[in-house]
Amino acid sequence: MSNSQVSRRTLLAGVATGLVAANLPLPALAASRIPTTTQQGAGFYRFKIGTFDAAVISDGVFELGAPAPLALNAKPAEVQRTLAAAGQPTDKVGLHCNSLLVDTGRELVLVDPGSGPHFGPALGKLVQNLRNAGVAPDAIDRVIVTHAHPDHIWGTVDAEFRAAFPKAQMHVPAVEVSFWTAPNVSLANSKFPPEQQQLFIGNTQKVLATWKDRIVTFKAGDEVVPGIRSIATPGHTPGHVSLRIDGGGGNQLVFTADVVHHHVTGLVHPDWTPLFDQDAEQAKTTRKKLLTSLTAEKARLLVYHFPFPGIGHVISAGAAGSFGWAPETWAWEPA
Ligand SMILES: [Zn+2]
Ligand SMILES: [Zn+2]
Repeated sequence: MSNSQVSRRTLLAGVATGLVAANLPLPALAASRIPTTTQQGAGFYRFKIGTFDAAVISDGVFELGAPAPLALNAKPAEVQRTLAAAGQPTDKVGLHCNSLLVDTGRELVLVDPGSGPHFGPALGKLVQNLRNAGVAPDAIDRVIVTHAHPDHIWGTVDAEFRAAFPKAQMHVPAVEVSFWTAPNVSLANSKFPPEQQQLFIGNTQKVLATWKDRIVTFKAGDEVVPGIRSIATPGHTPGHVSLRIDGGGGNQLVFTADVVHHHVTGLVHPDWTPLFDQDAEQAKTTRKKLLTSLTAEKARLLVYHFPFPGIGHVISAGAAGSFGWAPETWAWEPA
């Protein structure tokens, strides 16, 4: 029996008999009896889109640092106030990365498979979480990428820049491929620091080179694979798309990718421009238009950067032009 157990028992006995002195020292803290783990649950969430089986697969959390660059066109104090008013931390802001796995009955499709081992230790958890869901990387038939940012496309390659999904084809918007592979590609408008811009461009070009024989490009509005149609949502990057997944019987899911990033600041102030938007004005227009139409439609959404698993609805809230997030309740039976 350890000392801490002895002292706890002694203490409890004392409490029971009302004999504890007011200044009795507390027992030493015992080690946690919840087994130590670096994982938070299994990192996947099963659900259905009509006849399609689906799962959100987490790639981890993208830590933004402080102050979080959520609004280049607002005062930092105002951003902090907006976060605090919604009960959100202001000093440690993170964006979750929620990839989508869909079994259409014909093919196993993975959408935006995260950062891989290229963007820090808080990310790159997708392959392990995919395995936790019982799916091996070589079972993936199609990878769809909404845009070629690090946290959406770098996860298609492993540490040696080999294809992480060896049997898959990769579908990428044609505008994204031509933008990122142009001789003088510039991310200057997005306000990323210059050294980050060079890293982003260099690695993304290496990723596209790895996949070049298995890339299928598509135009915004095209049906990418049966049951999954792209929606033009440019601005965040020039060729950025969202996806509408139609599982039949009126059951749909809209994957909004990076139209909106933070579940509070991006919805309360859709006119705020985060650091990441390449064309601020176009991104703002796209964001307001899509949020308005998805709210009217009461569309079921998966938002890539919202808190895991990121499934829910956008609702009108408070002031004109503001929105709020109504997360779907966790369901133990996939629904
Ligand atoms: Zn992005
Ligand atoms: Zn992103």
